[in-house]
Amino acid sequence: MSSTTKPKIAISACLLGENVRFNGGHKQSLLCSQTLADYFDFVPLCPEVAIGLGIPREPIRLVGDPAHPQAVGTVHRELNVTQPLDDYGQQMASEHTDLCGYIFMQKSPSCGLERVKVYRDNGTPVDGGGRGIYAQAFCARHPNLPVEEDGRLNDPVLRENFLTRVFVYADWQKQLAEGLTRHRLLAFHSRYKYLLMAHSPAHYKSLGHLTGLSQCATRGTHTNVLQHISGYLKQVISADDKQEMQTVIGQYRQGIVPLVVPLTLLKHHFRQHPDRYIAQQAYLQPHPENLSLRNAI
Ligand code: SF4
Repeated sequence: MSSTTKPKIAISACLLGENVRFNGGHKQSLLCSQTLADYFDFVPLCPEVAIGLGIPREPIRLVGDPAHPQAVGTVHRELNVTQPLDDYGQQMASEHTDLCGYIFMQKSPSCGLERVKVYRDNGTPVDGGGRGIYAQAFCARHPNLPVEEDGRLNDPVLRENFLTRVFVYADWQKQLAEGLTRHRLLAFHSRYKYLLMAHSPAHYKSLGHLTGLSQCATRGTHTNVLQHISGYLKQVISADDKQEMQTVIGQYRQGIVPLVVPLTLLKHHFRQHPDRYIAQQAYLQPHPENLSLRNAI
């Protein structure tokens, strides 16, 4: 893949190994800085450094109402950087309109997406926590952008789901850039029919839009889609091959083999017996094969 065609993903700079944390360290993610760097152009951003807090710096934390917390110094409560972080989030959101995703550092009072500790006046944390100030401001401006925390990407299902959404979002951005016609819109929806069916049968049934992809597909929903797609082969493959297909789909459903196994068998049969409708389905290969995302789910 050439660098000009790689989807662009913003990322908390400390996850790429930049020494921008309050203590002068980093939180390098090997997944991001090594594996994913071949497939995406990363845009590293550190809001705390950008608003002038310096390295090293006094750590900040969230206090008050978890829905509208304040970011204040852990030592000097009078240090309140809520507004600068919020402003910087809005500024980055309006400057970076060509992103296809954002990977945030978890637990950070600036970058954390969920369950970031928010403290009451008496110093005890509020149940459930809140969202980092910068992340909140950024995401409010880009509500449909695929976003995830680095820690959650260790889960194979969440990782596959996030990266699928990034590639679909990149495709959607490309359609918009090239000029959306009725024909292109229909082709786009058609291409993602089975992917949407796997992730959200409800959105699929209501011919919903791609926000349905934010729900993770399960073994049950993938099995349903595999059955639908294998139905296109029923007139053209032998009874033995049909039986083998059913066995492998059943093994996937029971968790004996990963998703890549029935998909590889399906692709093998469709190579022998091409079907134009299935050939254009993103479901069969929504992301580069070398990422091996379906070997682990
Ligand atoms: S979590 Fe965000 S604010 Fe904190 S060091 Fe990383 S990029 Fe900077």
